[in-house]
Amino acid sequence: MSIRLRLTAWYTGILFVTLLIFSSAVYGFVHLYTYEELKQRIVQQANKVDFGTDGFDVLPNRSSANRLEDADLYIQTYNVLNNRIWRSDNMKFSGLQFETPSVQKVNKINNGFKRVTLNGNPFIVYQLAFTESNTNQLVLWLQVGANTRTIEQTLDRLQSILIMGSAATLVIASTLGLFLARKSMKPIGKVTEAAEQIQKGTDLSVRIEYDGPQDEIGQLIGTFNGMLERTEGFYKELEDAYAAQRRFVSDASHELRTPLTTIRGNVDLLQKMWEVAPGERADMDEATIKQISFEAVGDISDEAKRMSRLVNDMLSLARADTGQTFELDPVPLQPLVEEVARRAHFLEKTAEWHVGELSVLNGVYVEGNKDYLQQMLFIFIENAFKYTPEGEVSLDVVLYKGQVGLRISDTGIGMDKDEVPFIFERFYRADQSRGITSGTGLGLSIAKWIIDEHKGSVEVVTRRGEGSTFIVWLPVVFAPPLE
Ligand code: ADP
Repeated sequence: MSIRLRLTAWYTGILFVTLLIFSSAVYGFVHLYTYEELKQRIVQQANKVDFGTDGFDVLPNRSSANRLEDADLYIQTYNVLNNRIWRSDNMKFSGLQFETPSVQKVNKINNGFKRVTLNGNPFIVYQLAFTESNTNQLVLWLQVGANTRTIEQTLDRLQSILIMGSAATLVIASTLGLFLARKSMKPIGKVTEAAEQIQKGTDLSVRIEYDGPQDEIGQLIGTFNGMLERTEGFYKELEDAYAAQRRFVSDASHELRTPLTTIRGNVDLLQKMWEVAPGERADMDEATIKQISFEAVGDISDEAKRMSRLVNDMLSLARADTGQTFELDPVPLQPLVEEVARRAHFLEKTAEWHVGELSVLNGVYVEGNKDYLQQMLFIFIENAFKYTPEGEVSLDVVLYKGQVGLRISDTGIGMDKDEVPFIFERFYRADQSRGITSGTGLGLSIAKWIIDEHKGSVEVVTRRGEGSTFIVWLPVVFAPPLE
């Protein structure tokens, strides 16, 4: 059974009980009130009856009888002593006769009110016994009756009105209730529909449209939409991560295939050359064979180095992907940068190496890891040398608003502006570097990861043919030197 029907059933049931209690109370009250009033009127009139004598008989006098008749009451007396019955004129006229009390004693059964039906009409009859005051002997029964047809009819009508009214109210209320329940449950239907749509398909962009008030249903829809938005966000992130992972694997295999092909080619060449005895070779002399072998081994060595660099870089990034972090301690920057500057002299280079004033770094500490910071600086410096065939590469430092900027500038080949957003992506190599300068396209991705781990940022200024400047900004912790 749907909530809608259940709600309506409950609502109708409660209304039914309420109407039943209310109608019974109204009916009971009107019933009691009208009869009680009539009874009081009868008792009052009966007590006011005066008696006179007619020979031996004791009878109500004329004026009393008239008064009662005017009040639409019927009077009958029954003289117990002589067994005579007297009836008022209106009784005689209508041919009415009240049953005389059978027991000639005054008791509870006879004294008081009785309901009787005479000539098809309902009557209420009040019986009152009169006794001889001295002997206390029963003398006369006085019976005063009233026709209760009008009262009964009024009560019947009231009963019908109450029953019909209650039934109509119930029908109208339950129909309206069902309509209202359906209306208020409609948005829930929308929630179900949206949930089903998501369950069947993969479209997480579905939202439930609702412009009603912010009541319970409004809140439910709001929560549901919020949940969908978060799920969609998670799903998108997951999809992006999965796509990045796939790209990484495909790029990595592609990058590894090139050195492997070169190595295999050279190994095949060496094998073929050395399978034949040196003396049996007509086309090559000893020196040529030696020269070719030397070049092949050199190629193999270069490619092996390239592969091991690539594998190391990939390993670093794979570690970064698993969320692995390194410990951060306050690191004094001056000795660190000085060491990097000194070691940079020994790098393979064709450009000049300039180091600016590093004394501003005295006492400057950053929260970081010495090894990783050095690795990051070397990535930028090696790149600068790699992409600067002639000219100069320089390193200097700036302090600005609680940050330290490590600036590596070169006057090399530079890049197009629109390439800058991609250079930190894995395996990305700018067009002019591809196939000309050796590299894996992973260096800057690793540098970016190290900078992120240090809560720093990187700024790039570059122009094609004019050179590039990379500034790495790191937050400074001012701590006294540990000495
Ligand atoms: P690679 O191994 O190719 O150097 P990186 O991730 O270190 O990989 O750099 C990505 C690309 O950014 C390089 O291929 C190159 O095109 C460009 N790049 C990086 N540094 C410089 C620089 N100093 N001058 C010009 N281009 C640069």
